[in-house]
Amino acid sequence: MPFPPSTNPPTVSDKDCAICHEPLLVPSSNNGQPSYLIDDVEFRCKHHFHWGCILEYSISSFDARNRCALCRQSVLNSKGEFIVRVRNEGGFISGFDFGDEIDRHLFYKANPEAEREMTFLSLMSQMDFSDAELFLKGEDPDANGKMDPNVCYSSGRMTAMHMAALNDDVEGIQLLLKYGADKEFKSEDGQTALDMARAENSKRVIALLMAE
Ligand SMILES: [Zn+2]
Ligand SMILES: [Zn+2]
Repeated sequence: MPFPPSTNPPTVSDKDCAICHEPLLVPSSNNGQPSYLIDDVEFRCKHHFHWGCILEYSISSFDARNRCALCRQSVLNSKGEFIVRVRNEGGFISGFDFGDEIDRHLFYKANPEAEREMTFLSLMSQMDFSDAELFLKGEDPDANGKMDPNVCYSSGRMTAMHMAALNDDVEGIQLLLKYGADKEFKSEDGQTALDMARAENSKRVIALLMAE
């Protein structure tokens, strides 16, 4: 497949993924204009991979997880950490813990419902209500039932309503209430959404929750 021309192609030091041998610059379309995305994970041995290629490889076996897919050198540093350099449009992220990423990926693979809950919570926090509502209706792509509107973040027992209260996000709370969210639901430290709205002086949410 020919590469589309670009006026300003960013440079990548090592051009191809060591697994699929495709360029680390991934062609994409920006409003119909051909452009590039950078998708580059660099190991300490300086070998480069696409994020998706190396993640899939690393979760395939214990040995694959600890050694470079190309040169078979250990990917772990002296502290036993799997640290890589990631590059995307935002620039370089050095010191990225790829071991954590693999663990998260394996956890979600084993617990698809936990991944679905995190997706719902992040849609709510991004105020993407039309997509979030599909989860509440049980119409999202991975649905096996309606999303519980009181589902919590992994720490602190915070719900989407707690987060919306902190952000004075009235629309989010209205959506959650419509699907039966419990406004008395308490976080780990015993706070309801209204308590949090008061602490943040989220005036519109206070008014809404007082009126309900
Ligand atoms: Zn690749
Ligand atoms: Zn290597």
